[in-house]
Amino acid sequence: MIYTDASQTKQGMSVLVEGNVIKSITDDDDVISAFINEHKAEQDFSQINGSGYLLMPGLVNTHTHSPMTVLRNIGSDLTLQQWLFGEIIPRECNLTPENVYYGSMAAQMEMMRSGTTCFCDMYEPFEMLTKATLDSGMRANICTAGLHNDWSTGEKRTYETFEQSAKLFKQYSSYDRLNIFFEMHSVYLYRQEWLSGIVENAKKFNTGIHMHLHETEKEISDFMELNNGIRPTEFLESIGAFDVKTVAAHCTHMNDSDIQILKKHDVNVAVNMTSNLKLGSGIPPLPKFLEAGINVTLGTDGCASNNNLNMFEEMHLAALLYKGLYKDPTLIKAQDVVNMATVSGAKALLSEPCGAIKEGYLADMILVDLSGIHLNPINDINALICYCMQGSDVDTVIINGNVIMKNKKFLSIDEEKIMSEVNSIILCK
Ligand SMILES: [Zn+2]
Repeated sequence: MIYTDASQTKQGMSVLVEGNVIKSITDDDDVISAFINEHKAEQDFSQINGSGYLLMPGLVNTHTHSPMTVLRNIGSDLTLQQWLFGEIIPRECNLTPENVYYGSMAAQMEMMRSGTTCFCDMYEPFEMLTKATLDSGMRANICTAGLHNDWSTGEKRTYETFEQSAKLFKQYSSYDRLNIFFEMHSVYLYRQEWLSGIVENAKKFNTGIHMHLHETEKEISDFMELNNGIRPTEFLESIGAFDVKTVAAHCTHMNDSDIQILKKHDVNVAVNMTSNLKLGSGIPPLPKFLEAGINVTLGTDGCASNNNLNMFEEMHLAALLYKGLYKDPTLIKAQDVVNMATVSGAKALLSEPCGAIKEGYLADMILVDLSGIHLNPINDINALICYCMQGSDVDTVIINGNVIMKNKKFLSIDEEKIMSEVNSIILCK
């Protein structure tokens, strides 16, 4: 069974992939035979029998900090301020580049195992994120930081690294599976005049910005107190941050005027439901975003505030939460949520068509084993994906036309080694 788009499924068809793109979806035996004959001598030619499986687009995680797997379960049940400044940052100061690499590899394995094929990452050092992504086979949108915070003396000291980030952008933006944005962590971590420099850089290189926006009420009230009542979203609009493609993570406390600004500039919103709930940050007004026609996507956030990277959980939560909150089960539909986790996410992160099983789209796909009793009978494909399916049902992962995981086994990642490396990382404050 093939999930094409907009809830349509097709059966008895073959999906032909040439290079990294879906060439055709067909049941014409002559076309299929001709395709096999044309390509069977190629070294990376393979055929997968999809009977008993659902072929669907890979999931897209639009906001995470992949190396934070090494901080899994640290500082649970604390406020964001206590968690970030008391538990996380003091440990992050002791991370080595090698720790970051293995943390990111572990995250990417976890994501792929639960059906994610593309993710949007924010962490340092950039070179370790790109190395891990090139090694894992995943597709990623990775942002390079124009500013660097040094906490090693116990106090925050910020350095401007625009030249370095521009250099990294030029070096990595031509890689096949990488899309490079610039990082604007947040309005609370950096001085305002430096944020404009990031916008200039993104405009100069014609790329996008990945940011945290309105994660907590405190972020907004602190900013307004220092800036004559201007809200962070208004300020960012005023410096042109939304003139380029933007992925804004969280977007919890958004009023109607903020939502209008997001819509006016086609800002892509990355909702991080589990992280917001776990840190008690609030609940993003997702139904209002959809009503306004905003491109809404889903992210897990870093593993330390989730504490996993399973996008099926994010879909489940996004579909359920608002029904209970507003006593209205019609507000968010299963299909809306599947779109958020696939085609909308891909639109936010990439410039090529991706996120659906359609001709001309990038071949990022997963095969989900439909044999589990919890998946039968199917009756409604979107309800199945949103309310029944588990990350552990994912059997095979194809990214950029390459088979990365087959029958739940990674073909070229040493899973045991990565697991033992992350377990050996002990971070003290
Ligand atoms: Zn984040």
